[in-house]
Amino acid sequence: MREASYWKTRSDGRLACVLCPHVCKLADGGVGLCNARERKGDKLYTLNYARMTSMAMDPIEKKPLYHFHPGSQILSVGTFGCSFRCPWCQNSEISQGRP
Ligand code: SF4
Repeated sequence: MREASYWKTRSDGRLACVLCPHVCKLADGGVGLCNARERKGDKLYTLNYARMTSMAMDPIEKKPLYHFHPGSQILSVGTFGCSFRCPWCQNSEISQGRP
């Protein structure tokens, strides 16, 4: 866990995360919609900093690249937390998980 960037304290005592357009307003102990940022006391922290939940070698053709080293492999890494809730998400077990 690491202190987050991009947040501010509001006049009503809540803390506003301003990293993405959701602008979550959090009371102490509150977690953002993304499940990756939590207020503890008077600060906001990132819960997934330097934490990895998946790692795999993938064919380069899986990536949004056009004709880039065809036939080669690429290392994919990911962590939990996402500010979307897409019902068709292929990585929802990872992205919507809690630490
Ligand atoms: S969803 Fe996450 S990144 Fe976006 S405003 Fe809320 S806490 Fe911040």
